[in-house]
Amino acid sequence: MQNMIKKLAITGGTHGNELTGVYLINKFKKNPKLIQREGFETIIMHNNLKAMQKCTRYIDKDLNRTFKTEDLNDPNKADYEDLLAKVINAKLGPKGSEHPNVDFIVDLHSTTSNMGLSIVIDEGSKLTWQVAAYLKEMEPRVNIFRWKGDTKDVSFVNSIAKNGFAIEVGAIPQGVLRSDLFFDTEKLIHHILDFIEKLNNKKFQKNYTSIEIYDHIELLDFPRDENGDIVAMVHPSLQDKDYTKLKKGDPLFITLEGEDIIYDKDEEVYPLFINEAAYYEKGFAMCLTQKKVIKI
Ligand SMILES: [Zn+2]
Repeated sequence: MQNMIKKLAITGGTHGNELTGVYLINKFKKNPKLIQREGFETIIMHNNLKAMQKCTRYIDKDLNRTFKTEDLNDPNKADYEDLLAKVINAKLGPKGSEHPNVDFIVDLHSTTSNMGLSIVIDEGSKLTWQVAAYLKEMEPRVNIFRWKGDTKDVSFVNSIAKNGFAIEVGAIPQGVLRSDLFFDTEKLIHHILDFIEKLNNKKFQKNYTSIEIYDHIELLDFPRDENGDIVAMVHPSLQDKDYTKLKKGDPLFITLEGEDIIYDKDEEVYPLFINEAAYYEKGFAMCLTQKKVIKI
């Protein structure tokens, strides 16, 4: 298996109002020994300082959607986050190069949805899946979501490196620190660092061959009127039920007048990111996924 991670990056504040990552990076800056391990270097970084100062998700646009290779190479892309992405890419990448500056990126996020401890992986290298499987073994509450929104040229921060993923924890309101999920996230980071240390030192011989994931099917928008205004909300019986099975006939939305809207497809799905605050502007009420075991 591909191994020998020489440099890993833990980044937070990609979204300036997601404080778990912001404050974990603060903690690690004050106590660098916490993230030191034998045989590789771990760098820590706040990605969007200006958005953090304003405690807002972003200044001009979502930074975690600005890392497509074609956008990084496009001089006409010059919004605040476009330029910031180019700076981050120069520090951690460059993306797509034979030898990017870091081998692995863990990008820290939180969500207003009840996602518990989630890992978001896109294409996922062999090593990325091994780390995810180890995390799930060490912390069974971890769920893995495979994102397939833009797999040809992924726009996430972690796509700069050959390996990595985002950690998403919730439910946490924007601009809020929640101590239980703060410490849970820190524990996951320690597991990741311990695993890479063991792997680098050939002290970990196990090779995971399969993993349970929630696989992206589609992003589902709210019902809207002709002006684009939302006419129905997430149904109360579905609110906070991320990772719970939804089958034909189950309530999905409820109109402002109180009428149920039913899920009417035959396929059983598992909704994630239910009612995530940041996705209202993107036009998503939730992401429908399929639960499956994949070979890794
Ligand atoms: Zn985020």
